[in-house]
Amino acid sequence: MLELFESSADYLPPIKESELSDEEVLKEITSIKRELGNDVVVLGHHYQQDDIVQFADYTGDSLALAKEAAKLSAPYVIFCGVHFMAETADMLTKPGQKVILPDLNAGCSMADMANSEQIDAAWERLNTATEEKIIPVTYINCSAELKAFVGKYEGSICTSSNAQKIISWALDKGEKLLFFPDQHLGRNTCFDMGIPLEKMVIYDPTKPKGGLTDEQIKDAKVILWHGFCSVHQGFTTSQIKNVKKDSPETTVIVHPECRFDVVQGADLNGSTAYIIETIRKAPEGSKFAVGTEINLVNRLANKYTNKKIFSLSPYQCLCTTMYRVRPRWLLASFKAIKTGTPINVIKVEEDIKRDSLLALDRMMTIS
Ligand code: SF4
Repeated sequence: MLELFESSADYLPPIKESELSDEEVLKEITSIKRELGNDVVVLGHHYQQDDIVQFADYTGDSLALAKEAAKLSAPYVIFCGVHFMAETADMLTKPGQKVILPDLNAGCSMADMANSEQIDAAWERLNTATEEKIIPVTYINCSAELKAFVGKYEGSICTSSNAQKIISWALDKGEKLLFFPDQHLGRNTCFDMGIPLEKMVIYDPTKPKGGLTDEQIKDAKVILWHGFCSVHQGFTTSQIKNVKKDSPETTVIVHPECRFDVVQGADLNGSTAYIIETIRKAPEGSKFAVGTEINLVNRLANKYTNKKIFSLSPYQCLCTTMYRVRPRWLLASFKAIKTGTPINVIKVEEDIKRDSLLALDRMMTIS
């Protein structure tokens, strides 16, 4: 995927350090943003660095930003996040609006763990093994093609904020659930809903027949894709033990993209929106060890100085692809808009968009 973008004629190089210092870049963004006014809206995901978030007109998690994108009327939307989020924004904005991703190499390793060919092969494999109705649900962290797949096969998209509602809807419609690409969000959510681990199996696209026998597929309620977020795999149960040993009163709060044992060992778990809200509402003096991306953890620590907020991991888990969007890339996006030649424009093909929108609409209606 990276090579594709590197060689794309649309690839927009950032402003070079030999042209402008870091400080000058920030000044120029402030000035050009003011000049372009309402023509440009900047959306910033919570995992973006502070130098980017300061320019965001709206910040949020993927669900909040998708909802925001659907309401915008500005001709240009600069999406400071990763590729699948900009695709979602393109599908939800109106015809004629342009969605720009400052660095086309800002992808998501989890989204890359499932592609259309693999999902088509899995669908055939599962439906050959069982006659029970399977409803496919994809985490929003996936390509537009996979969103179109679930749209076409009566399924839905979900985010970490609404996963329980969407999975419950899917299991009312069918006997089985196929959940991709994040096995952890699927497993953690289904377990919270009362589905035992023995009723969940892993489909591994790299193994013959997905690594499952027909009997295992027939017996399962939930088929989880073998995907994960490398950032959230950095949190462990031994980190929880260490925090609790040194400071038993600290609340451990983690994202459901973390492994099952970590989520079970934590005091609380939920989406980024849930983590932010829980910390905001906590009384002065509260202590939180947070298991999610480090930019968000540091921002919360800087905002709520009357509470003690720190990363659960001593290694400070950073999403390196989110981190690719830096002020130099943002400034280059603004400059290209100003000259009337916007590039790094994300455009989803019409047929993929049509089926994806079916799934996105279902998600918005259910959640
Ligand atoms: S934090 Fe994980 S799931 Fe989110 S964009 Fe980064 S790699 Fe993808």
